[in-house]
Amino acid sequence: MERLFTEEIKSLKLGEGETFRGEGILAVTKALLQSGVSYVGGYQGAPVSHLLDVMVQAREYMDELGVHVEACSNEASAAALLGASINYPARGAVTWKSIVGTNVAADALSNLASAGVVGGALIVLGEDYGEGASVIQERSHAYALKSSMALLDPRPDLPTIVRMVEEGFALSEASNTPVMMELRIRACHVQGEFAASSNQPPAVSTRNRLAGPPVFNYERLSHPPATFRQEKLKMDVRLPAARRFIMERKLNDISGPQEAPLGLIVQGGLYNNLIRALQMMGLADAYGETGVPILTLNAVYPLVPEQITGFCAGKDAVLVVEEGQPEFIEHEIGSIMRRADVQTKLHGKDLLLMAGEYTAEVILRGLTRAHRQYDKRVDLTATAAWLDGLDALRVEAAERLGGHVPPRPPTFCTGCPERPVFSALKLVEREVGAVHVAGDIGCHALATFEPFSVGNSILGYGMGMASSAGVNSLMNKRAMAVMGDGGFWHNGLLSGIQSGLFNQGDGVLVIMKNGYSSATGTQEIISSPLESARSEAKGQSAVHSNLTIESTLKGMGVGWMRTVNNYKVADMVSTMREAFTSPFQGLKVIIAEGECQLERQRRLKPANAKLLKEGKRVVRVRYGIDEAVCSGDHSCIRLSGCPSLTVKDAKDPLKVDPVAHVNNGCVGCGLCGEVAHAAVLCPSFYRAEIVQNPTWWDRARDKMAGLLTGWLRPA
Ligand code: SF4
Ligand code: SF4
Repeated sequence: MERLFTEEIKSLKLGEGETFRGEGILAVTKALLQSGVSYVGGYQGAPVSHLLDVMVQAREYMDELGVHVEACSNEASAAALLGASINYPARGAVTWKSIVGTNVAADALSNLASAGVVGGALIVLGEDYGEGASVIQERSHAYALKSSMALLDPRPDLPTIVRMVEEGFALSEASNTPVMMELRIRACHVQGEFAASSNQPPAVSTRNRLAGPPVFNYERLSHPPATFRQEKLKMDVRLPAARRFIMERKLNDISGPQEAPLGLIVQGGLYNNLIRALQMMGLADAYGETGVPILTLNAVYPLVPEQITGFCAGKDAVLVVEEGQPEFIEHEIGSIMRRADVQTKLHGKDLLLMAGEYTAEVILRGLTRAHRQYDKRVDLTATAAWLDGLDALRVEAAERLGGHVPPRPPTFCTGCPERPVFSALKLVEREVGAVHVAGDIGCHALATFEPFSVGNSILGYGMGMASSAGVNSLMNKRAMAVMGDGGFWHNGLLSGIQSGLFNQGDGVLVIMKNGYSSATGTQEIISSPLESARSEAKGQSAVHSNLTIESTLKGMGVGWMRTVNNYKVADMVSTMREAFTSPFQGLKVIIAEGECQLERQRRLKPANAKLLKEGKRVVRVRYGIDEAVCSGDHSCIRLSGCPSLTVKDAKDPLKVDPVAHVNNGCVGCGLCGEVAHAAVLCPSFYRAEIVQNPTWWDRARDKMAGLLTGWLRPA
């Protein structure tokens, strides 16, 4: 796992009157415990990974409280976990990255929302939208609408986030409906503090178990004919109850003077950006004191018609600040106003962006347009000048950079075991020609960037194999699908491999067996290496088994399977060559084995530091380039893509091109040397061993080597 949360776990134990300090997503974790949650689960993914990571690492404390923690195999199983709240007064919370995770969870979510809940059920969504996002740009809001689940979008400050978690459970129980809470990237990582309360012992827990199942009640099943009644219940009972709760508990905030020509309605999650924009216009201070009326929707669904009409009435216009598309909130406000015959003008996407992140600058531009039209009292001269200056600066910067800013694509970590697989593929393609590569979600997706530029499609997490099936049957050449071990267990095993075997597909599948769900923060999976010391430190030893990907595939009847050490590029090349050209008809699986380098370094560094402290021998491997031999054609850089392989000016005045150079970041994985060898590139790479605390034999050997090379060196 990417972090150990030792300090944060202490914060989870804070009691009444103490102050919690930290990031937003960890405040959510504390708020869950303050709310008497009985069980927690989820599937990792930025920006909410830390919620589950900290819970998993705090297993011991969770056991003390009687809270069950489930590291789910995917988001669908996390959503189904909430089924415990359908029949029992047990509060449950799950988390995942949205929109992708919500897509995976959709089936279970629909069923859960239809049946309804007795115990509060909260779904914490990492709304991965905007400039820092790593997924498709869609909104979770659509799911709230279609399944009639309340959706909270709290202001990004810790007291509000914590309050919304606590109110979220109560809202869920008041409306008998699961509640979703979306947290944008900045809300998850916002730093702040709040006055903590003591953790509540759960009503039902691992220490206070249920006596047995409830009396059979068909109405608790999302199965016809109960589903017909459940749909009516949603409209006639649950949503009205949710609206009442939102008003009674004042979940939404109204601020600023109410007498003004222009009002603003904003999603809670955008409140900080809105205040920053107003501050730049001189209409607010940093603490949110503002001269403009604002309705902040911490509950973005359902809207409460009386609250909307009450806020809009008497104003010339309202501007809805709503990020993403379609503009669900704006449409709903339009309907509410039309039905109530409120004549206030409605603006939103017409004055703001239709798609893309609502940064303070984007909002500032929209506010400027709205104020120009409706509130002449506001002097916009300084704002307009600032925006014009910004535009001019952008033009000037682009001109100075020759028309465009050079891209800086992300890449694999230094020494990543997945990089050699793509180096090998590049070499094989020289022989068999270009192949169609069905990509997947995971670190291996970094191969889509330069220098590899490998991958023709990405259809979702674990979907690489499934997405190659159609192409494979239409092409002369076998297609290659890529999948990580995280994706394999997430759903690739069933959606792709089982389907491929069933349909007698003839493709090639490469499974990156790096041992972890690396791209989401190196969480452990069922086939992670059994290294008890590290696993126990992470509280995960209990989830391990001896299950391997190889034994699973063997059990499913895969007839062609090879496990290859990734760093042996020549072996990987010959295995791929065989897979693409073998007469074997059927699925061919290459298991590319190599531990995630990030985890390996995390494991090795403290172990080596301990050895050094004890005065014991430690050997580090580094690679280097003999610049007298390097010809400067840089094929090694193009084929390996390692960030430690760079260039420097040649000392030899006859060499005009810079020579290749290995910088200090090298972790000694050996790929560059292997690639040079497999591609018959050049002999300029050398391998060096840096020995600390050398033995007498190391010293003697070094002395002998020195004498020998001195003797061989020409005078
Ligand atoms: S996290 Fe691990 S698997 Fe992912 S790029 Fe880094 S070294 Fe490779
Ligand atoms: S420079 Fe070579 S040996 Fe060092 S990390 Fe990069 S590929 Fe591995």
